Amino acid sequence: MLRALYNPFMRTLLLSDIHSNIEALKAVFADAEREEPVERVLSLGDIVGYGPAPMACLEALWDRHAVSIQGNHDAAVAGTISMADFNVYAAEAACWTTQRISSDAAEYLRGLPDKLVDDSFLLVHGSPTGPLSNYITSYGQAAEAWEQTNSSDILVGHSHYQFAAEAGRGVEKPGPYGLTVPLGHARLVVNPGSVGQPRDNDSRAAYAIYNDETRVITMHRAWYDISATQRAMAEGGLPEALISRLALGR
Ligand code: ZN
Repeated sequence: MLRALYNPFMRTLLLSDIHSNIEALKAVFADAEREEPVERVLSLGDIVGYGPAPMACLEALWDRHAVSIQGNHDAAVAGTISMADFNVYAAEAACWTTQRISSDAAEYLRGLPDKLVDDSFLLVHGSPTGPLSNYITSYGQAAEAWEQTNSSDILVGHSHYQFAAEAGRGVEKPGPYGLTVPLGHARLVVNPGSVGQPRDNDSRAAYAIYNDETRVITMHRAWYDISATQRAMAEGGLPEALISRLALGR
């Protein structure tokens, strides 16, 4: 009987590269739910690293029963990959993070899958054949990725750029009013952008929403209190280079 009351259509929040930035994450939740609730949260990796609030971000995702895959920073903090490929600041922040998360959190990060299939989507932080290492930022790389999976559409993170690549068309970046990407026409690679450390010259937190009724993904940006995150980073003793880049969005 209860089933009849269940709304089969859902709004799914697509997040990536939160990077321990709780101010940005809170702003994204508020912005995404300004008019309607979000029923589901998918996180595309790099929950931690770089930022000042790893536990707060993990707890916010756990509260919402978010489904998450592993990013390279999550894996480095969990100790399952080496930090040898990390630049000095990324490595310093990852070491800083390992000392500030609970053993349960480390266990959680260690246990995250590096790929997940959900509906028509493959979720992967980097690319199908290099989940923790390869970047998809160009049409050529998207076309290679389509060859590497049977899933129609691929949701990625890692580059911290918000974009959609559509087979036969090319790569589209959001304009000032975001971007609407319809599903079911051609294969897609979609990166919702980075919540906590955007690098596409827009310092606002990036995210996307998948509406499975209209079958569209919409891309959004949310203002957040950048200076509050920067203060917390300074107080925690995180590298200055990581603090200043947040205001630049790169
Ligand atoms: Zn990242």
